[in-house]
This record gives sequence, structure tokens and C-alpha cells, in this order.
Amino acid sequence: MFAESATGLPGLYVADDSVTASSQWATPAVDWGFLIVPQEVMNNQVYHYERGKTLGGSSAQNSMIYNRGTKDCYGGWANATGDASWVWDSLLPLFTRGINYTGTESQTLGVSNAPVQLSFPNFALPFSSYTAEGFREIGVPKVQSLIGGELLDSQYNPFTINPTEATRDSSQASFLEASMTAGRNNLKAYTHSLARKVLCSQNSTSSRAAGVQVIFGNAPPFTLSATKEVIASAGAIQSPQLLIASGIGPQSTLDQYNISTIVNSPGVGQDLWEHALVLLSQTSISEGFGRLNDPEYAEQQRMAYYANQTGEAAQELDEMFPLDWPELEREIASAEKTPGSTVNIGTIIQSLVSPLSRGNISIRSTSMLDPPIIDLNRLSHPTDQKLAAQSFRRMRQLFNTTAIKPILAGEEVPGPNVQADEQILEYIESTVAFNWHAACTCKMGAWNDTMASLDSGAKVKVWRA
Ligand SMILES: Cc1cc2nc3c(=O)[nH]c(=O)nc-3n(C[C@H](O)[C@H](O)[C@H](O)COP(=O)(O)OP(=O)(O)OC[C@H]3O[C@@H](n4cnc5c(N)ncnc54)[C@H](O)[C@@H]3O)c2cc1C
Repeated sequence: MFAESATGLPGLYVADDSVTASSQWATPAVDWGFLIVPQEVMNNQVYHYERGKTLGGSSAQNSMIYNRGTKDCYGGWANATGDASWVWDSLLPLFTRGINYTGTESQTLGVSNAPVQLSFPNFALPFSSYTAEGFREIGVPKVQSLIGGELLDSQYNPFTINPTEATRDSSQASFLEASMTAGRNNLKAYTHSLARKVLCSQNSTSSRAAGVQVIFGNAPPFTLSATKEVIASAGAIQSPQLLIASGIGPQSTLDQYNISTIVNSPGVGQDLWEHALVLLSQTSISEGFGRLNDPEYAEQQRMAYYANQTGEAAQELDEMFPLDWPELEREIASAEKTPGSTVNIGTIIQSLVSPLSRGNISIRSTSMLDPPIIDLNRLSHPTDQKLAAQSFRRMRQLFNTTAIKPILAGEEVPGPNVQADEQILEYIESTVAFNWHAACTCKMGAWNDTMASLDSGAKVKVWRA
């Protein structure tokens, strides 16, 4: 699915529009319209936090960037769960089985008949090429690929784009479509339906998920019974909400809402990770997305996309840790100067991918129709603040390299007057954005880790006194 931006270009994603509260109902048919709890960082403003409400979930509206973790980070999962099947060598064949990769190294990274198309867009920002050279100058070498278990250093990222059609491959367009086409008759998708509660059968020695209570519009709730298991895959925001509404969550929350306890699981909804984003932008004289605000040029690009899948619409605009895990991710992007301006802006989006700040998810009522309480608590940890400020200075160093300088015409955001540590931190705190990478709210872990609500096989842990 491609949403069209104001420029009329398919797939072109304008990040700034999506983070303000005013964008809450911009795409109500496919987005839940969640708002986050205001926090001191970001001046207590309310922000919209996108989550896909459609087949394919958030993969139907995300920036399509495909990454894998590092070898040692999966080793960390194996240690935390006490289950060796989470190591990289065991996971790689599973990753590979799902991916049909068009690019270099195809023999190790995917297989030709796999459902998910992974490729590179037909358009790359010239600004990225200058930046790649700049990275070499500040000592960041090239890594062979970003999906081979190594992430330190820089490289072009593959996208979940079908290279033949230049269209998005969401989990619906890939896995679900492939299963339907293969004629599986034991798979049925209930659209426009909301799981209200996981129903459990219990006796003195065991608890078992027996089905799901579902609502469909104004019709009375109905039950889907499970003969084997119920898989709750409602994402990092609504999976904990569904578990808590079903009686699996922190005892204090269950008591507060008078929900019968199935499992007192204190970790459900806790430990929410999100990647804070810090932006540094320069006016760029090289080609960027600002010129798409020239209606004539935008029309040319739109036609180019529909005619032969080329042009700028062929690239998404947006687009305790192991030693091989990066602390920061830098995405090279472009933007318009102000809404409607054709001036090109080159932007480095800096993402804190090893955050120490943690948020949480809770409920505001027992109904799944009410949005959960989403507290991201970004940049609350002093180390995250320091790292963000250091990264900011490092990226100014990048903009000062001989490779990039010739195409830059002056710092746009926050501007050259922001120099002192306090000014930088103030800028970061008042503008920090998010990456929609909510994770870890139903954590897996060893049996004695009471904050891990799931075992290493992603099954709800049931502790008995
Ligand atoms: C704007 C945006 C950009 C992003 N960019 C990238 C990117 O470039 N690269 C990347 O790797 N990640 C990106 N992400 C993150 C990535 O898309 C998510 O991490 C991923 O899709 C999460 O998958 P999930 O299955 O856990 O949850 P989701 O994709 O959110 O799916 C959950 C599904 O459950 C459904 N659901 C929820 N509650 C219920 C209920 N009670 N009953 C029935 N159904 C329910 C939802 O409607 C949804 O369909 C982005 C996310 C967003 C929003």
C-alpha cells in the first residue's frame, strides 16, 4: 500500500506531519491514532504515535528499511532466555527463508522463492553519496551489508520493496498473500475485528488459552475457540494491553480495574524501548526532496514513477549492549525547508539505538476500544542525553568534511548559533522525535526473571506459589 503525500507522490512519507497531535486522524482507516503521554522533554506536548490498523499492521505504513541485529546481540537474547536457539547461526536460516533478496551477496541473504521482496530503490539521494565519502573522512568505513550480522560502519540499506513493481512489500503483501495464493485452507483472516480478551481455562495446576473474544462493529461479541494455542501478535503497544485486559499483567493494575487475575506478571507493559531521534539539517545545493514542492517537477516525478518506477518517488523519503551493537544509527535523509519551499535540505537523522531510558504501556479502562496509555519516557536517562549531544557534535564534524562541504549552504536546523552544551541539549530535548520502534513490552526471559512475562518460546509464563 502506498499513501500519497501532499505532493501527490506515491509512497513519499513526510515525517514531520506524522508526529504532531494534529496528524492523529490523518489516516484513520489504517492508523490507530494513538497519542503519547506528554513528557517534560518535548515541553509536555502531546504527540501522535503511528501504529498500523490494517492487514500487515505497521509494516503497511513504515519506512520499509530492513535491518537485522548483530551476531552478538542475538547471543545476548540466548543468554537472557537461557535458550541457545536464539543465536545468530540458528536464526539466519529462518531470516533467509523469508527473504527474496535482489542485490549483492544474494546467495547468503535470501532465497529466490521466498515471500518478502527485499531490494534497493530505483532512486538514491545524491546527498547520500556525498555523505558516504564524508563518513570515510571521519573514520567510519564501509561495511559489506547491513543484514549480515554486522552493523558498525556505513552502507546503503535495503528496503522491503518489490523490485519489479517498485511497490511496498508489507507482511500482508508478502507472507499473507503467499499463503492465500498457495491455497491454504486452514487460514482465515477476520478483518475489521477487534480481539477484546483472551479467554483462559484454569484449574488448580494449569492455565490454558482457550480462545479469543472478538468484536465486530456493533454486533454482539463472538468467540473464536482455540484447539491448540492463541498467538497474541497485536504489536508492542496493544499486546500488553490485550494481556492486561485478559487478566495477565501487574497485580496492582489488575486490582485497580477489577480484572480477575490469570497471572500476576509484573513485567507486562514495562520496559518499553523506543529510539529517540535527533535531527541536524543543512541547506543543500545537491538534489533533495525540497524541490518536490515545485508542482511541475513533482508532476514529472510522479509520472516517472507510474511510467517506469523511477524518479524520487521510487525511494521512501524516510525512509549492557554487546560490543558489536551500535549506540547510534544515522539515516541520511532530505526534506523541504518549510512546507511548500523548493529549497533542498540534507538531514542526518540520528537514532539512539541503545537507549537506557524506559517507558511503559498501561490501560485506561478494561475495554480494548479505549487507547492504551503510552508513556515513551524518552531521553529521561542522563546517559542518553549525553550520547545524543555527542552524536550531534559528531555529525557537525561530518558536515564539515571536504567531501560534503561543497554541496552545503549553511546549517538550517538548529543553526550555527547553537554551540554551547546547554544550548545543544535544550535543542535536542525540545525537538527529540521518535522512530516508531516500540519494543520489549512483553519481554522474553529466563524463568527466574519475574519481569520477563514470556518464556524463551514466547509463551506466557505462569508462576504458581
Ligand atoms: C511510521 C513508521 C515507520 C517505521 N519504519 C520502520 C522501518 O523503516 N524499518 C523497520 O524495521 N521498522 C519500522 N517501523 C517499525 C515496524 O513497522 C514495527 O516494529 C513492526 O511493524 C511491528 O510489527 P508487529 O507485528 O509487532 O506490530 P504491528 O505491525 O503494529 O501489528 C500489530 C497488528 O495487530 C493489530 N491489532 C492490535 N490490536 C488488536 C486487537 N485487539 N485485535 C485485533 N488486531 C489487533 C493491529 O491493527 C496491527 O495490524 C516503523 C513503524 C512506523 C509506525
